[in-house]
Amino acid sequence: MQALTLFWFRRDLRLQDNAGLYHALKSKFPVLPLFIFDADILDKLDDPQDARVSFLHQSIQHLHEELQALGSSILVRYGKPSEVWAQVLEEFAIAEVYTNHDYEPTAIQRDEQVKAMLAERYIPFHGFKDQVIFEKLEVTKADGKPYTVFTPYSRMWKNKLNSRMEMPDGAGEEEAVSFYLKPYPCEKHYANFHQIEPLPVPALSAMGFHASTVEIPSSNVSRGLIKTYDKTRDFPYLLGTSRLGIHFRFGTISIREKARRAQELNETFLNELIWRDFYAQILTNFPHVAKGSFRPEYDRIEWRNDEKEFEKWCTGKTGYPIVDAAMRELNSTGFMHNRVRMITASFLTKHLLIDWRWGEAYFAKKLLDFDLASNNGGWQWAAGCGTDAAPYFRVFSPAAQQEKFDPEYKYVRKWVPEYGTAAYPKPMVDHKFARERCLEVYKIALKGV
Ligand SMILES: Cc1cc2nc3c(=O)[nH]c(=O)nc-3n(C[C@H](O)[C@H](O)[C@H](O)COP(=O)(O)OP(=O)(O)OC[C@H]3O[C@@H](n4cnc5c(N)ncnc54)[C@H](O)[C@@H]3O)c2cc1C
Repeated sequence: MQALTLFWFRRDLRLQDNAGLYHALKSKFPVLPLFIFDADILDKLDDPQDARVSFLHQSIQHLHEELQALGSSILVRYGKPSEVWAQVLEEFAIAEVYTNHDYEPTAIQRDEQVKAMLAERYIPFHGFKDQVIFEKLEVTKADGKPYTVFTPYSRMWKNKLNSRMEMPDGAGEEEAVSFYLKPYPCEKHYANFHQIEPLPVPALSAMGFHASTVEIPSSNVSRGLIKTYDKTRDFPYLLGTSRLGIHFRFGTISIREKARRAQELNETFLNELIWRDFYAQILTNFPHVAKGSFRPEYDRIEWRNDEKEFEKWCTGKTGYPIVDAAMRELNSTGFMHNRVRMITASFLTKHLLIDWRWGEAYFAKKLLDFDLASNNGGWQWAAGCGTDAAPYFRVFSPAAQQEKFDPEYKYVRKWVPEYGTAAYPKPMVDHKFARERCLEVYKIALKGV
């Protein structure tokens, strides 16, 4: 049997500018790519038409075609990763394994398990940073501890980015690029893909899913949109943000390429990409956030957790039009604009006093761009219990937010056609009353802090 290097695709579904794949292709053995449809994850999804699974399947199909054009293929399996690995190690002579880092607690556990299986057979497992610009403890305070506040973190992030500028070969000075944003030229080494006949890709139906009809936002964003991003990004009725979230989530685009574009065109857009790194490092360095509040004293809050009220929030029937529009947009498209993510999250936690983890789980189920680190960070921010949180006494007024960010009710009219008619419900709770109730409950929980 021919000795092979195996490259394990996960959240990095592209052949271009892929750190781990680049290193795999430079190894001394031909490279066979692997993707596992993880039964541990898929079996927990309750919508057989989950758009993210469809997108994943399409992306794998696309990789399959690209690899076929290069005379190679991709090994695609469905099952529990440890069981799939046991089979793959029987079927192929694997000399080395390459992959990119994944920072979610369950992914880290999975990788440790696979690493141990490989170690028993003396097979090296190489991991690389690919999905963020800076990971783990690469950007820290002077004492080496991780930042927990965004502004100083982002300042240090930018200092580090600009501290190592390099000139690509033969380029003029204006083309100097940060070492950290340089692309990995995988294409120079494509000849090292293992040359084989196409391998079969399991059908969606074999895994219990069907193709979704939900439209996936394009991975091509115009320069014009990024250039004006700072002026348009706050208004949910405009197409003023990139909608690249799902592509970052599955790695169908390169973060380095988008960060170079952001650096060139719009600082505000770059800052948003830094938020993504910020929350990824928070999850890595403070993994307890995946289950509880970053500030543990907030776990003392006596949530009301009324299931009927939660249902009204989920279905967009709260009687607050901007909240309802946002929830209905989420339910029908899998997307929700950042401004209204903040408003709906604040409403659930502060107006209704429902545990932020209920909202976090609902978003995880519905968002195309669901990402544990950013979703958790966003929810903890809204509930006031997170790293860089809004102080708990700042309770968004839905009416004031409406006035500021959708003054002509364009967004509301699009998603709540019955708004302004007798069919639209009255507000489920009075704003002033809810605000005072929230302050009281938080105050009791945080007494003595
Ligand atoms: C309660 C709540 C839940 C959220 N859940 C998620 C989630 O599951 N997945 C997710 O990617 N983002 C999440 N966000 C952050 C943000 O709302 C989305 O990234 C953004 O709305 C996605 O739309 P876009 O791709 O058009 O972003 P753009 O505005 O075009 O920004 C470009 C990219 O920057 C990153 N980004 C932007 N804002 C943030 C932010 N505040 N935090 C982290 N990264 C950011 C994203 O990768 C985004 O795709 C959440 C925010 C809140 C308040």
